[in-house]
Amino acid sequence: MPVLRGAYERGEVRTEHVDAVLYRARPSRIDAIAEHDATLSQLAAAAEPRHLAVAVQGVVDHVDRDGADDPPPCVNEDLRGLSLRDGFGGMEELTGTTTALVGELLRRTWQVYDTPDPADIPEAQRRTPGQRFHDALQAALTVALDGAPATVGGVKVHAGVFVDLFTLLGADDLATIRPRFASGKGITPELARHLVATTTPTMRAIVGLGPWNPVSVGRVRTMPEWLKFASHLGHPHCRGPGCELPACLCDEDHIDPYCDGGLTATSNGAPMCHTHNVLKHDDNWTVTFDVETGEVTWTSADGRRVITLPPPDI
Ligand SMILES: [Zn+2]
Repeated sequence: MPVLRGAYERGEVRTEHVDAVLYRARPSRIDAIAEHDATLSQLAAAAEPRHLAVAVQGVVDHVDRDGADDPPPCVNEDLRGLSLRDGFGGMEELTGTTTALVGELLRRTWQVYDTPDPADIPEAQRRTPGQRFHDALQAALTVALDGAPATVGGVKVHAGVFVDLFTLLGADDLATIRPRFASGKGITPELARHLVATTTPTMRAIVGLGPWNPVSVGRVRTMPEWLKFASHLGHPHCRGPGCELPACLCDEDHIDPYCDGGLTATSNGAPMCHTHNVLKHDDNWTVTFDVETGEVTWTSADGRRVITLPPPDI
């Protein structure tokens, strides 16, 4: 809307006027609203934002034949919410209230992915309806997360398990790392072994020495997804001081810069958010990583030092 923009830049209309237009400018309506750029701008210059809002609504009502803004799908929409917490005996407890649409998607999931128990299974061993619903949901989620789109916002959604080799071998006393999921949730050695033995589709084992020591791909510029995944298990967040941004939303930083010969390896990489990346490069902080302790040390040009510690339970 060039006319409105010009009026705004000249100070003839206020931000509230522009907001009155933007508030109603959904993709399906933008063309119709923009068509009235000149008229609406003239009105904005002469009238209060609420008057402009009424005019824009008039245009919108013309596009949306059904009337005003889309009504909420359900009066109780605000009640929706799910929660997941530790349950009894190593299980998880999922509770919540959901919308009619998600309810329908779940029912369809149950119908489409339900696999009836074979007739030769004794009645006492057959799954309950609830168990079959659960298994159908698991099958649907596996298909959804394995298929397209393989990533959401650039992040691949899949399950990962971090486990010491000694744990896999059944020698729990010798293991130095407690098994966990990629989300950081700790699991029992028994569950870790069970998952590795039974989780079929696509499993990739990444073997390292301790949580941070080298898994290297040598001289390539960007860390491949599978190696990032290994790195994130040791660094769940940005390694900048006090930063909690999840690793999957960060860039993988070469601690020793790639251009100075730094390897692309878990021992030379840590997730870093944009702000801390800029701090490191533009404000000349020196960052070092201790692969024995997992500590990352930030030293400023004038000698200030800040140490960020690894997760307490690694
Ligand atoms: Zn950060």
